Amino acid sequence: MENLELLARVPAPLLAWYDKEARDLPWRQNTDPYRVWVSEIMLQQTRVEAVIPYYERFLSAFPDLKALAEAPEEQLLKLWEGLGYYSRARNLQKAAREALSRFGGLPGEVQELSSLPGIGAYTAGAIASIAFSRPVPAVDGNVLRVVARLTDSHDDVLAPAVKREVEKAVTAVIPHDRPGDFNQAVMDLGATVCLPNGAPRCEVCPLAKLCLGLARSTAPELPVKAKKKERRIEEKTVLVLIDSEGRAALERRPARGLLAGLWQLPLLSGHAAEKELHQALEGWGMQAQSLRPLGNAAHIFSHVEWRMTGWLVRVRGEGPFTWAAPEELEERYALPSAFRAYRPACLEGGAFAAADTSPH
Ligand code: SF4
Repeated sequence: MENLELLARVPAPLLAWYDKEARDLPWRQNTDPYRVWVSEIMLQQTRVEAVIPYYERFLSAFPDLKALAEAPEEQLLKLWEGLGYYSRARNLQKAAREALSRFGGLPGEVQELSSLPGIGAYTAGAIASIAFSRPVPAVDGNVLRVVARLTDSHDDVLAPAVKREVEKAVTAVIPHDRPGDFNQAVMDLGATVCLPNGAPRCEVCPLAKLCLGLARSTAPELPVKAKKKERRIEEKTVLVLIDSEGRAALERRPARGLLAGLWQLPLLSGHAAEKELHQALEGWGMQAQSLRPLGNAAHIFSHVEWRMTGWLVRVRGEGPFTWAAPEELEERYALPSAFRAYRPACLEGGAFAAADTSPH
């Protein structure tokens, strides 16, 4: 990223603007770490206006870390209802319990904060700087947009290396006497002035005199976000193999890569026809006694989409598999949700095995 040295001239005009224009938000009444943390988690993927009433209800139900740690999950999720991304609520409680047992409260260092569930680099930076006055950056999409426009950078802001560079540059200029205010000022500027979607309000911006994106008229088209690679489509055949005792065959996925080390139903590449199924079974030293198609299903991972077709096969022989009875599938083995569509067939395997005994 070029022109990052320009950031050294940002703190003075930005903080002067913040002193006059800071948004009056309920979590800014004081810098209690718990309040800052809850607000940052609620604000992830959610607009400020939507968060405010939830925040107030949440804080009156759970005014501190201990109250949150001891809250019944049902009450916690009920208070979160409508905000979405429920894992945030569960992680808040997990982190509250962990913070109390490991640190006796929320810790002040970025590394310790980041070791708690649901707290990433941005949130850790926000808590450490706002609540503990640590001179650390809190760089999110808003900050990346402001910096890209200020420096007229056409680098891809979604690239981790670009984010790291911005974090380093902010660390070098963040005022040690007001790190929390500085981070909040950039957030406010991004949220109210340097708006996304090609609509910066440069006419009211305290950084207009420094801004290369404004001087060069490139600001509205910044930041650059490289298009994500298209997902690769992979065809798979999922086998629900049931033995004479009604147990289903499982195998472990490789230790690296997608769903690393998890259990799965046996998989063949491509959409296998009946003849190929028999060949595969033969290769495992097994024979099919009966076959029944289970239909198609799809599962989307971040970079790959599986398009699956399934078969329910009653088999003779053990093959290289681990065999799980229906109750073991319920209680012991976790099957990734990619196989959700075929799970009922595994659980009904016993019925199928008992009912259909004719050789194929
Ligand atoms: Fe953003 Fe315009 Fe301010 Fe530059 S001058 S930082 S583009 S609002």
